[in-house]
Amino acid sequence: MINNIFDSHAHYDDEKFNEDRDILLSSLPSKGVSGVINCACDLKSSAFSAELSDKYDYIYFACGVHPHEAENVELSDIKNTISELINKDKCVAIGEIGLDYHYDFSPRDVQKQVFEYQLSLAKDFDLPVIVHDRESHEDTLNLLRKYKPKGVLHCFSGSVEMAQEVIKLGMYIGLGGAVTFKNAKKPVAVAAFVPENRLLLETDCPYMAPVPLRGTRCTSDMISFTAQTIAGVRGIETQDLVDRATANTKELFNIK
Ligand SMILES: [Zn+2]
Repeated sequence: MINNIFDSHAHYDDEKFNEDRDILLSSLPSKGVSGVINCACDLKSSAFSAELSDKYDYIYFACGVHPHEAENVELSDIKNTISELINKDKCVAIGEIGLDYHYDFSPRDVQKQVFEYQLSLAKDFDLPVIVHDRESHEDTLNLLRKYKPKGVLHCFSGSVEMAQEVIKLGMYIGLGGAVTFKNAKKPVAVAAFVPENRLLLETDCPYMAPVPLRGTRCTSDMISFTAQTIAGVRGIETQDLVDRATANTKELFNIK
């Protein structure tokens, strides 16, 4: 069994876990999971993520507002909630924040405004960011160049050239189940390219379950399949890759 798995991006506040959340979260350490960062998508889930981190030793959290929800929040409320939650020891980042031009659930100018606002909060509070970028590579890169945050581009979907840019900015690349998908050319090329000190592993659970479990509800232990694919591409042992990614996650998010 693969152990020492650190899932740098999970959503255990999602309603898909309502039925058995506590049973599942109690069982993950026995399935090789040593750490999880629960990422919020709105202010309510920021508070819920904080509660999960109180309850489970191995869970840390990020607070923030996802681009899908950008339209539904006031900047002043973001500031109030985040500045309260970041006082908690286990708040390790602001996230997930970013841009999503695939769904466009919020107008793009509002998405940009809320993303920029949270990038500047992260600067003020000296916290890393967890960034969501879907079909918005150019605007995302421009804002990252402007604010130069510490952080990760999660579920990285860009090209190797974009990965190079992100790494030049000092940021990390998060890879999840998408690298195992049948037509995953770009993610596999990125998985081969990313320097070993810049690679994080993640699930984005309950979404993005890796092959051979694609389509099922994803949980953090499934990272072993993603890691196996990436390790295969890089020609190294799966456990060595997991250990390295875990060390990177702890370093970026300042977890002892
Ligand atoms: Zn996510």
